[in-house]
Amino acid sequence: MSSYKNYVEKHRKLILDALDYIWKHPETGYKEWKTHKYLADEFEKLGYELTLAGNIPGFTAEVDTGRPGPTIAVFGELDALICSTHPDADPETGAVHACGHCAQAAALLGLAATLKEPGVLDNLCGKIRLVAVPSEELIEVEYREELRKQGIIKYFGGKPEFMYRGLLDGVDMAIMVHTTTGPSSTGSMYGGSNGFIVKGFNFEGKSAHAGGAPHQGINALYAANLALNAVNSLRETFKDNAHIRFHPIINHGGDSVNAIPDNVKMESYVRGATMTEIVETNRKINRALAASAAAIGANVHLRDIPGYWPRRHPENCCQIVREVMTEVLDNVRVDHTSWATGCSDMGDVGAVMPALHPFISGATGVAHGSDFRITDPDTACIKSAEFQLAFLTRVLKDNAKIAREIIDSYTPDFKTMKEYFDFVDALNIDKKAVRYEEDNTVVLSF
Ligand SMILES: [Zn+2]
Ligand SMILES: [Zn+2]
Repeated sequence: MSSYKNYVEKHRKLILDALDYIWKHPETGYKEWKTHKYLADEFEKLGYELTLAGNIPGFTAEVDTGRPGPTIAVFGELDALICSTHPDADPETGAVHACGHCAQAAALLGLAATLKEPGVLDNLCGKIRLVAVPSEELIEVEYREELRKQGIIKYFGGKPEFMYRGLLDGVDMAIMVHTTTGPSSTGSMYGGSNGFIVKGFNFEGKSAHAGGAPHQGINALYAANLALNAVNSLRETFKDNAHIRFHPIINHGGDSVNAIPDNVKMESYVRGATMTEIVETNRKINRALAASAAAIGANVHLRDIPGYWPRRHPENCCQIVREVMTEVLDNVRVDHTSWATGCSDMGDVGAVMPALHPFISGATGVAHGSDFRITDPDTACIKSAEFQLAFLTRVLKDNAKIAREIIDSYTPDFKTMKEYFDFVDALNIDKKAVRYEEDNTVVLSF
């Protein structure tokens, strides 16, 4: 039994009780108050002083080795998502932990307990900031728009919101372990994964009697239909290695069947491997949406919202994660050349500092699906906490030699959080894309 295992094993009941509670109390992003309270109480019982996010769930707690060195943030995500067909979904909200964040939160508590054990920080340098972070799943956009309008949040993702609130100030690198499916005791990490922009686009036409006077109308549904075809005609311009994804849905397609639809609401993400590719593709898509509306005299209201930054794990980060995983897990699949097309706001942390997002097994079913469950809590929580302790020990020992190497060799996309925020804020678009002039000129603006 490794010494890490000895430390974590003592807290098995604390960890598994937390998993059980959080699984049974699923809450979606920025609503995780029960989860917050449960964890905050347990952290305080362990003797931690918490820095609360305040008017949103979540907090940070710091462990100081007493010796100078870098600060490493360890995240545990709090939020569930909505999958109302899941048998364990909350009957009122449809929320369920179908992404397994409950296991992350339980493992974070386990790590917090372990870091209070005598001797565990011996020979380590720097600080460890434990971060219970809300709202990773980017869902319930209207609710979050409302929170934004009320001035409660500025960002839809909990990690950029925590950055904005200064809760990650002074942090030099970050790590979190996400639960996944697969054989027991398996660890993995990709070289990186996609980022995205969130898009809402409302086609606006003119209603008229669909039988008696359709010639008086402008059909917003047909504008939407043209737009989908126009974007599909762009797909061959998407570069293979840019991993572009555009997957729109129609939220509202018309009001009554005997009237020409004058308002059609759609939304999508534009996902891609680099923010440059995402921005470039998004511009082409907006042009296609605008031109399709203009083709039949309609309009389109474009609403672009920054989503998440692409994640990337340099080779040296993968190497360390592979070595540490090999110490505590039976199967290890870490490949810095592999790419995943899902997204996480851990990418936003990675825009300004090294941010590692490995996976550890313990779940079965389909992620975000109605059969997803934590079936191997020993791997998902106990081994995850063990890995995190082993990782922190590895990078913070010997005067934090490895942590310093990772930090010094990492080239962030932005030197400061301010530069990052200036860039993502500029991604916001909220305007009508078509202007009709008196002289038959049509101006597209996107
Ligand atoms: Zn998810
Ligand atoms: Zn997730």
